[in-house]
Amino acid sequence: MDSERSKKQREYTGQNDEQEIDLKYFHDDEFVCQHCGKIGIEDRFTALLDKIREDAGFPFLISSGYRCAEHPIEKAKSTPGAHSMGLACDVAVTGEQALKVVEIALKHGIKRIGVNQKGRSRFIHLDIADSLPQPTIWSY
Ligand SMILES: [Zn+2]
Repeated sequence: MDSERSKKQREYTGQNDEQEIDLKYFHDDEFVCQHCGKIGIEDRFTALLDKIREDAGFPFLISSGYRCAEHPIEKAKSTPGAHSMGLACDVAVTGEQALKVVEIALKHGIKRIGVNQKGRSRFIHLDIADSLPQPTIWSY
């Protein structure tokens, strides 16, 4: 699965002029707004996530990346959050892998972490929104 994934990403690289940096493991398409398809993720965030993925040594899916202000989750908030700034994502990991992602994120200086580890859609939220309160950790 991992090799298939990297192959797919190699094919993407070079075809998409919008992506300004070369990521080893991810493509901007994985971070588009799931409500409208808009590309809004910041390069400095995906670059950091690429390093986290390198250190993790296992593949993981992005269950939510950039969310525009009109995305239902953001629209329900009084002020759009870190996803709308293009500085956050939710990583679909559980158990041992979830702990590993948190550990590596901390090592890379991430100071805002959300933990959703119950029910069917478990994830770890990571963000680098400087304008939001930190350091902090929360659950859903
Ligand atoms: Zn949208």
